[in-house]
Formats: sequence, structure tokens, C-alpha cells
Amino acid sequence: MSTPIVSLRTEIVRDQNNPQLLVHLLDEDGLGGTGETWWGTYQPQSEAGTPVGPIATMIDLILKPLCLGANSADTAGLRARLHRATYQYGPEGVTSAAIAGIDLAMWDLNARRQDVPVADLLGDRVHDRLPAYASLHWLGDAHKACQDADRAVQSGFTGIKLHEADANTVLSVRQVIGPDIALMVDISGRLSDDEYRALAHQVEPANIAWLEEPIFPQQDHQRLARLRAQQKQKMAAGENEFGIEGCRRLLEAGAIDVFQPDIVKFGGLSAARELAGLAREHDVWLCPHNFSLGPSLGANIHWAMTAKAATWIEVPFLSEGQSFSGRWTTPTLEDGMIQYPGKPGLDWD
Ligand SMILES: [Mg+2]
Repeated sequence: MSTPIVSLRTEIVRDQNNPQLLVHLLDEDGLGGTGETWWGTYQPQSEAGTPVGPIATMIDLILKPLCLGANSADTAGLRARLHRATYQYGPEGVTSAAIAGIDLAMWDLNARRQDVPVADLLGDRVHDRLPAYASLHWLGDAHKACQDADRAVQSGFTGIKLHEADANTVLSVRQVIGPDIALMVDISGRLSDDEYRALAHQVEPANIAWLEEPIFPQQDHQRLARLRAQQKQKMAAGENEFGIEGCRRLLEAGAIDVFQPDIVKFGGLSAARELAGLAREHDVWLCPHNFSLGPSLGANIHWAMTAKAATWIEVPFLSEGQSFSGRWTTPTLEDGMIQYPGKPGLDWD
């Protein structure tokens, strides 16, 4: 039985630090689904919400007409149609992000139709809970990093990720949080090879769980593999791959120990199952990249519960006095863990 999609609406949450782009679908039965896609790159000179503009335009002008009238139960069919129709824009980047937003909305809608969690549609559940780490903003200040890390630990997180490339900051945070909390360092592609090698060596006493995206461009997999071979710590990357093939090349290059694909960049839940299989094949940790509280976090949680290689879930953590303007809150943690969300659709809390 075919139930056509009768409405597609994009919604921009204009948060200066964390804009969100939501996609709302409605079918002829009155059934709704909400997805989310990539929040874009930080644009300090622009009005809040601007970074998601190109993706919203792609959805509104190009994809929406293709969705209206399509069968709301056929996620795979719609995805194939959207991919084909946009191929000449280039299948990655804005295109794959736009398709991901619709894909997540379709999974949400179809799980709600059956009144089951998205995890139950994705496959067999292999985790009942997974540890969550607090992902701090870039702060550029050792004192603030220590304060935020301490607050995150007090909030129940058992892992902290810094976006700092300064050895003294990293070592100071380790002093503050003690030896039992996992500490990750995300460099966001800001160092040369030599600078990175020096940092990796300097932070060895801090027992770092992984070092993330040291160099630019992040897709220089061979260079990343060489750096990984020279260090003792785990290497993490994957959030800047915009499709399955890029992820495959990253893994085949032997560049990483920790695989961090971003569901709202690589195309959504429909591609996620294949990536979970690749993670197992290459024997790496699967730690999906996420910097949103919203349906994209929900998608990562549901997906991770069905993926054997899933190891950590990334949860954004803001500084004192900052808050997300969206309607979602930080997931409830039990012993530092996020529980299997036994709720319909992409809901998790
Ligand atoms: Mg990162």
C-alpha cells in the first residue's frame, strides 16, 4: 500500500553556536517524521543560522518536489531517486547532507508508523547501553578547559573530548579530572606533521584515549596513516567523509583506530548499516561524530545500539551560561552510559 508524502518543511533553529536544520515530513495518513541534517561550518561573521542555508536551499528547491507524492513507506526507493536526481551537483557535501536530513525523517516516520524505536528497524540490538563522552567546544584557554572538563565529570560523563591542540592544556585537564576518566583530543586539522608529532609525544603522560584529525586536508589518508604508524596513541577520523566510498578509502589506508563517520554528512541511516559492517571488517572502534542535541543524536544512539563496533557516543557539552536553543536536552546518563531508547521513532530521552 502506498501512502504519499504530502508535506515537507525545513526548519532552521537559529542558534549562534549550534544552528540546526530540521526536516519535517507528513504523509497522507497524517503520520509525521522529523529528521535533522548537518549544521554546517562555524561562520563567526554571519547571522545565526546562516551555515545551514545552502543545505536548506538544496532541500527546498531541488529535493522537496521529488519527495512530494513519493511513497512514505519506501525509504530506500526515495533515497535512490534523490541520489540520482542530484548526482551532477556532486554526490558529496551539501548534496549528501541534504539527502541525510530527509532520510532521517523517513526512518523516524516509518518507525512511528509501527510504533517501534528506529533501532528495532535497523537490525538486531547488540548493546543495551553505551558510554557517552562530553565533547567540549574549542576554548583556547587552559583554565576554561579545566573548568568545563570538571563540570562534565560532575554531570556524570566518563569521557571528555577537548578541541585544544596545546599540550599544557591537555596535561592540566588530566590533572583536574584524574586518571579514571577517558580523555580525547580533537585537533580539527590545525597542525603540520611536525607540530602534531611533537604534540602526540608531549601528551603521552596524559594517557589519551585517541588523537583526532591532526592535519588538513583530513582526506589525505596516506599521510594520516604515516602519522598513525609513528605514534603510540590511537588515531581517530572520519567525520569529513561524505559517503561510503570515502569511508572505505579511509579504512583501507590503515589510517585510523577510531572511525567517526557523521550520519548527517555521509547520507543518513540508510548508509549507516553498511558503515557499521566496514568498521567490524577493519576491526576499529565505531564512535559516530555528532555535535547536536536533536534527531541526529537520536539517530546515532539508535544506530550505535545495533552496531557491534560502537564504543562511545559523542554528546556536545557547552560552557557555563551557554545553552542550546533547540528543544532537546542532554541525554540522561546512568553510570556514564546512554541507555537503549525504547521509544518510538528517533526519540531517546
Ligand atoms: Mg572532530
